[in-house]
Amino acid sequence: MIQRNYHWARQTMLDRLVTQGIRSEAVLEAMAEVPREAFVDEVQSVRAYEDCSLPIGQGQTLSQPYIVARMTELVTAGQSRLRRVLEVGTGSGYQAAVLAQMCQSVFTVERIGAFLDQAKARHRALGLLNIRYMHRDGFKGWPSQAPFEGIVVTAAPDAVPAELKAQLAIGGRLVIPVGAQGIGQKLTVITRLDDTEYQTRWYDLVSFVPLLPGSLA
Ligand code: SAH
Repeated sequence: MIQRNYHWARQTMLDRLVTQGIRSEAVLEAMAEVPREAFVDEVQSVRAYEDCSLPIGQGQTLSQPYIVARMTELVTAGQSRLRRVLEVGTGSGYQAAVLAQMCQSVFTVERIGAFLDQAKARHRALGLLNIRYMHRDGFKGWPSQAPFEGIVVTAAPDAVPAELKAQLAIGGRLVIPVGAQGIGQKLTVITRLDDTEYQTRWYDLVSFVPLLPGSLA
């Protein structure tokens, strides 16, 4: 295996995130802390810090650094000590590793079992011990661990799943891309105001793989 030094590439990514509008120091620190090259295969690793999404196998993608930072900023509202955060769509494990820098406990759900095993191994190798894993259809969230102060969904449904809204703590935020592929999904933030009321805000236009029902080995 070729040993590369990614320090310069990571610094370039951080400078770019600032020019792209990421303001939270805690988010920038979290992005500085996690080696993105450890979450893609060797062939992709030279491109790990470029301003683009990367293939991770099975037709899935790891989002570009700006989108990971943006979702992290929206879900944490820049606070660096959220207690419980749920991620739907573990994929490579990168977004979970970034969240794990800022949250006491990260709960991550993935429908493809092989992704989950790989992400677990990557997190262990980096000494990240505050992440818990579940192999299941994430449309249903993780009810036994709810409520969550934040929920991040990294694949796009056509409409916001009611089960996920119901698993938010009061004051909690659900960050989710909504819409069909190719026609402009909107990064949507739903804040739970009280037992029955939610506030919805829309942010960037994004392009995520679809949130699919059911689970696979
Ligand atoms: N957060 C990931 C991005 C992965 S891409 C990362 O940092 O790499 C989206 C992921 O969502 C894929 O791994 C896909 O298998 C998963 N996914 C799609 N539908 C899902 C569902 N209903 N439940 C759980 N995971 C799902």
